[in-house]
Formats: sequence, structure tokens, C-alpha cells
Amino acid sequence: MQKRLTRAEVPAELTWNLTDIYPDEDAWEAAMAAAEGEIGSVTKYEGKLAEGAATLLACLEAQEELRKCLIPVMSYASLNLSADGTSPSAQAAAARVGALMAKMQAATSFVRTEALSLPEGTLERYLAEEPGLESFRRMIEQLLEEKPHVLSAETEVALAALSEVLNAPSTVYQRSKSSDMTFEPVTDKDGNQLPMSFAGYEGRYERSADVTLRRNAFASFTKGLKAYKNTYAATWATEVKKNVVLARLRGYKSAIDMILSGQEVTQEVYDNLHDIILTELAPHMRRYAELRKRVLGLDRLLYCDIEAPLDPGFSPETTYEAASEVILRGLSVLGQEYTAIIAEGLKSRWIDRADNIGKSTGAFCNSVYGVHPYILITWTGNMRNALTLSHELGHAGHGVMAQRYQRLSNTRTSMFFIEAPSTINELLVGNDILGRSTDARMRRWVMMQFLMTYHHNFVRHLIEGELQRRIYAMAEKGRPVTETVLSRVQGEILEEFWGDTVEVDDGARLTWMRQPHYYRGLYPYTYSAGLTIGTAVAGAIREEGEPAVERWLAVLKSGGTKKPIELAAMAGVDMTKPDPIRKAVAYVGSLIDEVVKSF
Ligand SMILES: [Zn+2]
Repeated sequence: MQKRLTRAEVPAELTWNLTDIYPDEDAWEAAMAAAEGEIGSVTKYEGKLAEGAATLLACLEAQEELRKCLIPVMSYASLNLSADGTSPSAQAAAARVGALMAKMQAATSFVRTEALSLPEGTLERYLAEEPGLESFRRMIEQLLEEKPHVLSAETEVALAALSEVLNAPSTVYQRSKSSDMTFEPVTDKDGNQLPMSFAGYEGRYERSADVTLRRNAFASFTKGLKAYKNTYAATWATEVKKNVVLARLRGYKSAIDMILSGQEVTQEVYDNLHDIILTELAPHMRRYAELRKRVLGLDRLLYCDIEAPLDPGFSPETTYEAASEVILRGLSVLGQEYTAIIAEGLKSRWIDRADNIGKSTGAFCNSVYGVHPYILITWTGNMRNALTLSHELGHAGHGVMAQRYQRLSNTRTSMFFIEAPSTINELLVGNDILGRSTDARMRRWVMMQFLMTYHHNFVRHLIEGELQRRIYAMAEKGRPVTETVLSRVQGEILEEFWGDTVEVDDGARLTWMRQPHYYRGLYPYTYSAGLTIGTAVAGAIREEGEPAVERWLAVLKSGGTKKPIELAAMAGVDMTKPDPIRKAVAYVGSLIDEVVKSF
């Protein structure tokens, strides 16, 4: 049986280089102490914001400087923990950072509450008087929108002091998943025993062509999940309850309303995405499922078969180096400045591609202000990894561009927009491969990879989003959220979507246990927003060329200076209308048509 490596056994060149942040732990310790010391540079303005616009400006600048000190301290600890969740020192460091963050939030929460308690019209007057505040305009306008929902100063301090506790559901989920959860080894069709892990299931076995291995792995995965189903249900229910209670305390209509306000998205846009995609995409996806059943010669299509490869004899392998070239070629349409960022990231160890015990599952990008983005991925040598990497590099490129052209306070975009830059890159790289390939099988492979992306973002994540939508609606009515409820509702949504083409079993009903996204507000549905925008922009770049590229680069450089719907509009996409959503769904339908015809 092949043994999984520990973090210490992994070759350094496969890991990200955290010495770009701090040369060693001692330097991190020193930075941690320095950051803590900086808190006073903000708190000295407490009680003074009424003095005038210049004081508010000085306070906001000090707060931004404090964040510049904290971000690397925080990132260093969280990246270490993602690389090895089983490391006691990484766990301890993350806990200390969590405590420091809570202290900082409690100490500086006055900025928000005090600014909001200034007499009516004061903030507007400050903005008019002090030109220096101009670059904080959006932050101030966001504060004004929040104003009706702010609680008394003492309550806000209490909530800020409890932030670590309020984040406990996420911490418990992540810690348990990476360190406690174990799975029985699985057997493939030849009787070989293989190691099994959460990442291994999602990264490898779930899409294995070996039906024995795939189904055995799902059985082992389901058994492993089941041991924690009540724990995770309680964890998730606590998260939901937290948001419902906070929304009520703050006077929002609902938790969904509160979270969407934070994302600057209307309920109508949110509902449109769920309603249109889940109903209009379903017939196309069922057609795709039927093709899968026929081509694979299966008498029943189980939930664990829905991503089984349709052409398993054709699985282009690639090395990291070759994939880097393919990615750079595909993204070259975005121009020199952009490509230089990506090239730098690929060669300078921004990326952690090792597979080791305790490593976080999935892939992510964390753009560390003042340093560079860091990307986590588990490299398995398949061309699919190249597309995942292009996706994460989309986040990285966005992070670098935003930080290059905007001050720190203006770099962050709404969650609604976050997945647009990443999905555009995935489409650009994929389309470039498609455009150069004359081999029908390769072309079909690329289209099926696209379909995998749409499956993830429009189906999997949106079904997660739908689960959130229904569970929050129940919780608002005071109905308990338990394992039985979560599994039942999960099963209902899957059955509504797949009809009778896919068998929804016990394991499928536990899908709600798989996503850390549930602990990040309304994250799952934003993938479909990002991909809708991404599909439209990638299409425009293909059809119009330069003007569409210019619009897109301007959007990336704008960082978080605009609302997400405005950023989409800048890129030429009107997300207030159902049209771009319908167009993206139709595009998926056309891909499925082509793939069905090719078999
Ligand atoms: Zn992403």
C-alpha cells in the first residue's frame, strides 16, 4: 500500500515559499508582537472622530496601516495550517492569531460605531471637506448603508470580543475534517488496496474510471462521513442560528437579507441565479447523465457516478512545467502586464502542489498584501490540474492587479464577484487549447472539462446554495436544523434536479457535510454568479478581442472600488437581468449537444 507523505517528507520545490513572508518563526513572533503593539495607533483616536474630517482621515489611515501589519501575520499562520492541519504548532499559531484578531477587532470596532453615531450628515460633510477622504469614500458609503443596522456601542464591543467564539463552527468543522476524520483504505478492480482521504476522494477517486474503485471509495467516504454526521449537523446548525440571530438583532429582514446586503447584491439577483439555473439547466444535465449511463454501460447511474470520465482511455497527462506554458499561452491575450504576474507566480513558488497528510482539501488562493498571492492545490499530473491552476491564478492575477492600483482599503471585491476573474482564466486557457487542437478526441476532452467546471459551479455549488436557501428559510421560522433535516432536504434538491436519471442514495444525502463554504456566509451561489460573468466576458474577449480585454483589465485594476453589479456592468455584463444567466445556460446546453453528438 502506497504511503502518504507527511509534510516534513515533501520536497521543498513542491511547496510554497513562506519565507517570502517571514524568514523564520522568530520573525513571525516578532511581527506578531509588533502588530499587537500597533493597535494603540488606532485606539488613540477613540472618542475623537467628532473633532473633524482630518481626525477621521488620520484614524482610517492608521487602521489601514494596522491591517497591513496584521495581514502577513495572519496569512503566515493560516497558510501553515492549510499545509498541515495536524501540526500542533500550526494549530497553536492559528489559535494565537485568532485571539489577536479578536483583540484587534474589539479594540478598533469603535471606528465603525463612532463614525456611525456622528450626527446626521457629518460623514457626508467630512467627505466634502477633506480631499484625503476621497479614497475612503466607498468604505464610508458602505458604513452609511449599514447605519440602520448598527447596535449600541457596548453591544458592538461585546460582539467583536466574541468574534472568535462566533467563528467556532467554522474552526470546529475545519479542524475535525483535516485532523480527526479518517477513512478505510479502498480496493480497486484488481484487488489493490489504496489509501483513502478526503482530498484523495474528491481529487482522485470520485472521477476514477474504475467503477469498482469509484463505488468502493464512495462507500468508504460515506462511512467516514457518517461517523461525524451529528457533529457536523450541530456545527452547521450553530452557524445558521448565529446568522439568524445576528440578522434579527441588527434589524434585517432575514439572515439571507443581512448576508446579501454585505455582498451588495439584491434578493432578486440571488433568486434569479438559483431559479433560472436549477430549472433551465436541469434538462441539459439530465441529458448528459443519460449519455454517461449509456456510454459507460451502467444499468444504474449512482450519485457517485455523475462525474465518471466518459472517455477514460483519453486522459492527457501533463507536468507542472508543461502546464505552466499552456496556461501562459492561454492567458497571453490579457496582455504583457497580466501575463508577467502569472509567469512570476508559476516559477517563484507561490504555489503549494504537494500531497501530504493534513493538507487542506480543494484549492484556494490567498493574496497576501505586500507579499504576493499563495495558491494551494494538490497536483496529480493530469491536464485537469492545469485548468484548476488557471482558475486559482485568476484569483492571484486579480489580487495583484487590485493591490497594484488601489490602496489596501479598496482592494477587496464583493464575494459575488470573486469567482469571475478565476473562471474567465479557466475558459481562456481551455478555449486556447480547443482552438489549437485538431484532434477530435482532445477537443471533446476539453469540452468535457468545461462541462466539469459548469457542473461544479452551476450544479454542485448551486445545489449547495439551494440547500442554504431552504435551510435558512426553515431556520427563520424557528424549525430545528438537524442531521435528519439536512439529509432529507439535500436528497430532495438532488432528486428535483436529476429527476430519475440519477439514484440519490444515503451517501448523496450527506453531500452537505462536504463543504467548508457553508461557514462563509452565502458563498456557494457566488460561483454561479462568477461563472455567468466569466462566460459572458470570455465570450466577448473571443468575439471582440482588444476592447473587451481593455474593459476587463480596467475591472481588475478597479479592485473593490465599485459594487459587484457595477463591476460586471463595466465588463459589459448586466447582472440585473436574467439574460446573461440564460445565455450561459444555453452555452452549457450547446457544449452538451456537441459532446452527445461525438459519442
Ligand atoms: Zn475560485
